Amino acid sequence: MSDASTAILTVPADSAALAERARFLPVMDMTIAVARRRTIAEAVQQLMVDGQDYGYINSADKRRPGEKAFLHQPGAQKLDNLFGLVPRFIVDNAEEDWTGERHGGEPFFRYLIKCQLWRGDVIMGEAIGECNSWESKYRWREGGRKCPACQVASIIQTKHKSGKDQGKPKSFWCAPFKGGCGVGFELNDKAITDQQTGRVPNPDIFDQVNTLVKMAQKRAHVAATINATSGSEFFSQDPEALGGSDPDEGPIGVSAEQRIEQEKAKAAANAEPDDEALTKLLHKVESGGEEGEMVCSDIFEAIKGHVGADFATRAFKEALRQHGDPAKLAKEQQAGAYLPIVRVLYKALKDVEARAKK
Ligand SMILES: [Zn+2]
Repeated sequence: MSDASTAILTVPADSAALAERARFLPVMDMTIAVARRRTIAEAVQQLMVDGQDYGYINSADKRRPGEKAFLHQPGAQKLDNLFGLVPRFIVDNAEEDWTGERHGGEPFFRYLIKCQLWRGDVIMGEAIGECNSWESKYRWREGGRKCPACQVASIIQTKHKSGKDQGKPKSFWCAPFKGGCGVGFELNDKAITDQQTGRVPNPDIFDQVNTLVKMAQKRAHVAATINATSGSEFFSQDPEALGGSDPDEGPIGVSAEQRIEQEKAKAAANAEPDDEALTKLLHKVESGGEEGEMVCSDIFEAIKGHVGADFATRAFKEALRQHGDPAKLAKEQQAGAYLPIVRVLYKALKDVEARAKK
């Protein structure tokens, strides 16, 4: 506040006393404060879209009374526009260990980014966001088997559907619903069986440096907007700390158990007579990511049977786009992540079946 001394020199002494007293008064009157609060409430209702600008951890039927939404970056941008706030990002601290020499041979990147929200030449709020490459979603990749033909990590194992070998592995298949080419392979094909699977260090970490920076910016931005607009009454500060998911990051952050519980509750809520099949499928998926893949593969085949592979592939891609690709998650999270996808696909299947009957 280097201007304070010069400012005092230019005002008469009694004004200085007034100014001193004003320090103990609110900076805005009640009408303005109420209007400001109402503006945010109205912005949420009229400008913001649930699921895009903000989101909830629990589905509507399971939400606690008064559960706050978490703010996404598009929502933060809308509030910024509304209040005339312009973000400025400053790298507060960055650690870039490309060769891993300071981290036991494993590359490490960490960014601390400060977001300041300016209105004119005044900072209305600021916050810091952090992101680093050892967060589990960046550090690891689920080592899916790559297709020798098309090089996409879309190989799954199919099982015998009937006969004496029912339930036993049948072949490898480059699943089109996972972006693969549809070619089948023998179970003993070394080009596939020699590949390492399971959790492996992310080989593409260097491609993600930009993502890490953006994510740190985003975290800082959302927090700064909530600070600057006093929006914490409406939005929670840190969605990820609370286990929320983020539309740009796929279904990460919600634990597998949480997701399974959510989906079970949904299935129970929608349990109409003809949904028994769905409930059974969801139970099957719960037992692991491989079962999730199998159930998806079965539904894919069923949809394909009615309306062809193109449509089936599109339906799967859309489901993966909506809910994230479980194959990109750690193994223990995959089962849970397949649940919403199976739900979407099952609905698609029911729709095409209904149309086929007509
Ligand atoms: Zn392939």
